Amino acid sequence: MAYIVALTGGIGSGKSTVADAFARLGVSIVDADVIARQIVEPGTPALAAIAAHFGNEMLLADGSLNRPALRQRIFSTPEEKRWLNQLMHPLIHQETQRQLAKARSPYALWVVPLLVENNLQDRADRVLVVDVDSATQLARTMARDGISHQQALNILSAQATREQRLAIADDVIDNNGTAQGITPYVAALHRRYLELAASATRQD
Ligand code: ADP
Repeated sequence: MAYIVALTGGIGSGKSTVADAFARLGVSIVDADVIARQIVEPGTPALAAIAAHFGNEMLLADGSLNRPALRQRIFSTPEEKRWLNQLMHPLIHQETQRQLAKARSPYALWVVPLLVENNLQDRADRVLVVDVDSATQLARTMARDGISHQQALNILSAQATREQRLAIADDVIDNNGTAQGITPYVAALHRRYLELAASATRQD
């Protein structure tokens, strides 16, 4: 198993932007959001289980998951939310382990938006937090997703705070400047992670 660096940050903080910069340096990326979608693709046992439990109205005409319908169903019923979590969490964990084991670089970058919220930090060797001030975060989220200030604020308030994330960070990338400005920080962190991964391998 490769050395694992978890990358986290709030919505619109710049996780994808930072992950792309690491990917350009040849680092294998494992993305928690991508995995959460992959395990319920048409033809998967998880999607079949969801349709069997909640009914076929959870499926769209093309056989894919009707996310808004599922969201609405679990929103109002905590025990259904629990049922879904119990189905999804082991599958997400299994698929994450599988993808991390396949990583071809000395360390893998595991992008986990809800690392703090789901208390997953102990599953990584190192935690990198992308940090921006809240005004910048709101402005970038509104621009990217075409949503109102209030909608962006609602999402942000439901997430962990900046302070909670910074409290578990081993490293922090300040993304308040330009997107190009992060390149030297990423390069420096990359050198550091290669060293850490090499010394972790020697100790194994
Ligand atoms: P996340 O993956 O954390 O939600 P993104 O990487 O998608 O965040 O960044 C949110 C938005 O802000 C995107 O539209 C992205 O292009 C833009 N962005 C990211 N970093 C910067 C930056 N330093 N300066 C300006 N825009 C940025």
